[in-house]
Amino acid sequence: RIPVITIDGPTASGKGTIAHRVAQALGWAVLDSGALYRLTALAVQQQGVDEDDENAVAQAAQRLDVAFQGEQVLLSGIDVAGLIRQESVGNLASKIAAYAPLRQALLERQRAFRLAPGLVADGRDMGTVVFPDAPLKIFLVADVRARAERRCKQLKEKGFSANLTRLLEDMRERDERDRTRANAPLLAAADAKTVDSSALSIDETVNVVLDFWSS
Ligand code: C5P
Repeated sequence: RIPVITIDGPTASGKGTIAHRVAQALGWAVLDSGALYRLTALAVQQQGVDEDDENAVAQAAQRLDVAFQGEQVLLSGIDVAGLIRQESVGNLASKIAAYAPLRQALLERQRAFRLAPGLVADGRDMGTVVFPDAPLKIFLVADVRARAERRCKQLKEKGFSANLTRLLEDMRERDERDRTRANAPLLAAADAKTVDSSALSIDETVNVVLDFWSS
């Protein structure tokens, strides 16, 4: 079986950065599953799909023409890596991520990323639903203030405006929704290792994961 390291956790816990760095260290590919939900949200916005229609949203996901090339995220050939990071897209992604038909539509697309020599998959349900047989599962957490500060910095670096107080509020709301939704609530897999990165640097967090993998 091709190995997978799953990294799940709440929004802005640093999953994406850690996943990329761990993948780089191992020479593996990376799956940013949140990007698929964000891309669906963007396609729904752009195509005027009714965001309350679960089946229409799932169909939009099935039609997605997506390619990941380095830092680029191509939707129908256009780089939307910056666009999908916007809070409006993130909020719609969080809303539609509760739709069972959408989660089903994205399941096989996610599993197709499992290619030799290995995959690091980041998201919410990588260890519980998408890759339940993964040999290493990380549940990455950080307190909400640390996460809001990171997201704020990230947005500003990308040239978007950002307000810490509003981000903090949004993040608490998003946490609550992700935690309590009926479909795919955010839960650590029973066999996941929980890592709290609030007081850890990126390098330190990457090393914690790599140590788990080599031990
Ligand atoms: O991780 P990111 O913030 O990019 O994810 C965007 C939204 O997609 C999240 O709010 C989350 O609800 C949803 N998501 C999900 N399952 C995943 C990845 C993301 O439900 N595996």
